[in-house]
Amino acid sequence: STPVVTFCALTKAATSGLLVKGGDYLEILAKVKVVAFDKTGTITRGEFIVSDFQSVSEDINLNTLLYWVSSIENKSSHPMAAALVEYGRSHSVEPKPEDVEDYQNFPGEGIYGKIGGEGIYIGNRKIAQRAAGCATVPSIKRFKSKGNTIGYIYSGASLVGIFSLSDACRTGAAQAIKELKSLGIRTAMLTGDNQAAAMHAQEQLGNALDFVHSELLPEDKAKIIHQFKQEGKTAMIGDGINDAPALATANIGISMGISGSALATETGNVILMSNDIRKIPEAIQLARKAHWKVI
Ligand code: ADP
Ligand code: MG
Repeated sequence: STPVVTFCALTKAATSGLLVKGGDYLEILAKVKVVAFDKTGTITRGEFIVSDFQSVSEDINLNTLLYWVSSIENKSSHPMAAALVEYGRSHSVEPKPEDVEDYQNFPGEGIYGKIGGEGIYIGNRKIAQRAAGCATVPSIKRFKSKGNTIGYIYSGASLVGIFSLSDACRTGAAQAIKELKSLGIRTAMLTGDNQAAAMHAQEQLGNALDFVHSELLPEDKAKIIHQFKQEGKTAMIGDGINDAPALATANIGISMGISGSALATETGNVILMSNDIRKIPEAIQLARKAHWKVI
């Protein structure tokens, strides 16, 4: 009856929108001790709203800055990019990605592109460090306080602009974490975003997460997963943007928000076909029941 029980559990999980790639993963899911979440696009909606955008250089007006940023961001698939392009359009600036040369993505940091002869970096403190060779970026008070994601714009080694964006936690995120806790599972959030933004999300979740780690590069996320694995079976759930190494390091990598043709090439051990992370505690409960029936 073992294969039958496993088959039934896998089918039941699939019906609720969770593809578990085989009985082995079902068994690991039943034993999971730590669940780590990516922040942007996983715990949060990944639907950013630009709340501030300004030039900090007398030589560069806002329109030029918007033209640079929206044209370069137009080449990025990061959730922040769409919001910045949209923001440019709301100021009547159309992106011109065809004007961008030497585009580069620095995972967990930001992006680079050459436009109109200027080399422009856009991203967090790490990109500032890359552009200017130091991490001391001026902090503007009203940008700091709100727990927003902060972006810096550098032309070569000079800071020319600064912006901030806000994102909100998904409906059901707080409940998912509460349910995991009630199953005796420890929860963590791993993010490449700044500490204030990470703590802001943690507060929105009623401080329910056991661990919050911020300002991480993709390989830093993988290192932390490796440490969690010393404590027991660890699941990592992410949207695949800057968290592929962590998903691969975990005992179970859960990819979310995947559908259609992308399903075929997806490497996650478990695929969450919706954005509802409450399916995770549900699946763990299901896996435990199946495991109990098997033994
Ligand atoms: P998370 O770990 O929360 O999912 P990411 O790893 O996707 O966050 O990104 C980490 C940080 O890198 C972002 O908070 C942002 O500061 C910066 N970043 C990444 N991509 C971009 C981009 N296209 N434009 C500007 N900044 C970016
Ligand atoms: Mg992410």
